[in-house]
Amino acid sequence: MSTEILIKGGSIIDPGTRSNSKADIAIKNGLIERIEPNININPSAKVVDANNLIVCPGFVDLHCHLREPGEEHKETIKTGSEAAAAGGFTTVCAMPNTVPTTDNRAVVDYIKSRAELESKIEILVIGAVTKGSLGKELSEMGELAEAGVIAFSDDGNPVYDANIMRQALEYSSDIGLPIINHCEVPELANGASMNESWVSNILGLKGMPKSAEEVMVARDISLAKLTDGHVHIAHISSSGTLDLIRQGKEMGINVTCEVTPHHLTLTDEAILGRGSKIHSDFSIDETAYDTRAKVNPPLRQMQDTLNLVEGLKDGTIDIIATDHAPHSAVDKICTFNEAAFGISVLETAFGSLMSLVHNEQIELGILIEKLTSAPAKLLNMDLGSVSIGSPANLTIFDPNKEWTVNAETFKSKGKNTPLDSLLMKGQIAKTIYGGKVIFEQQT
Ligand SMILES: [Zn+2]
Repeated sequence: MSTEILIKGGSIIDPGTRSNSKADIAIKNGLIERIEPNININPSAKVVDANNLIVCPGFVDLHCHLREPGEEHKETIKTGSEAAAAGGFTTVCAMPNTVPTTDNRAVVDYIKSRAELESKIEILVIGAVTKGSLGKELSEMGELAEAGVIAFSDDGNPVYDANIMRQALEYSSDIGLPIINHCEVPELANGASMNESWVSNILGLKGMPKSAEEVMVARDISLAKLTDGHVHIAHISSSGTLDLIRQGKEMGINVTCEVTPHHLTLTDEAILGRGSKIHSDFSIDETAYDTRAKVNPPLRQMQDTLNLVEGLKDGTIDIIATDHAPHSAVDKICTFNEAAFGISVLETAFGSLMSLVHNEQIELGILIEKLTSAPAKLLNMDLGSVSIGSPANLTIFDPNKEWTVNAETFKSKGKNTPLDSLLMKGQIAKTIYGGKVIFEQQT
């Protein structure tokens, strides 16, 4: 067999070995065969020109919603995987809040068979902690683990009952898989649609205090200590949560966490809409509550975003995950209170995160690590490196390429993004999975 693909002239970032060098990459039979400067071109090889581009491992997303089975009008495994490939992702983990809930082997098998047929990338399945994700009765966690789930979560809902959470952590520590919790105390969230702040005050919308997240994070860290289980806190949004996790880690408790691109780069002021003007007396013109910025947990405040970036750098935050949550137009074109929570993230994640690099808030190498080797490590998977013999799952990007978000052109069925029509700097050029080019930027 001849070499199938030759990537010429790229700068390689390998967070696995923390190396950063310019070399060619030869791919054969889906694996990386050689990494050397100036590999001679085999006439039968497909040559990918990566001059002035960066090559890194394919991104790994621990948290996305693919909506299949049951809500195929919002997304399917096919469209979700195409969106992921366009965003530079080669492995994504599907959350179990499907219809029916992914709380038994049959649904896991169904998703895997659909992924086999329809997906361009690797799709891993997360099983529900409780039956129907209703929080009342544990799912058959052993059966789900046998069926191949890589974690458990009731995401969308918190695991409300502390004793159920305790039992889940006990089982999961036996099984060796994490419990991912969406931390939200319902009595404190109390039906609110956004963060509790001056913005909610002037909009007259009910706010969700940060304590709604922090109280449950504190509980879960305590339960992880009690059980020796691994709790992974989903989509952390506040400075207070960050402090709690930092303390938990310092105490040696098995707690990890993720942050989304939007909680790192946007604040609750995005809800005001870009046409709005705020006056010094706190009155506003052209109020247009932007339902596309309605997400759970809600977007917080500037100091939270700055602290979360620091948390990424100092290792308190383990990974970046998208919480890609596609919705149909009718779910968002309505009043703010009625609108669904969630942002379609896969195709803007990299562009928006690159703003942190261009603003010199974070180094590119750390950003790539949090999207690749760090989630791979959390999943105990042999992914997230550019090394000889490893699977040729690679993302090639231009860190300086400017482009404008156009949600209408998304591969995802979910066009719900507050970033629509904004300028980004940093773009995915090509995505390679299993040695095949599965996405090529058309410019
Ligand atoms: Zn969630």
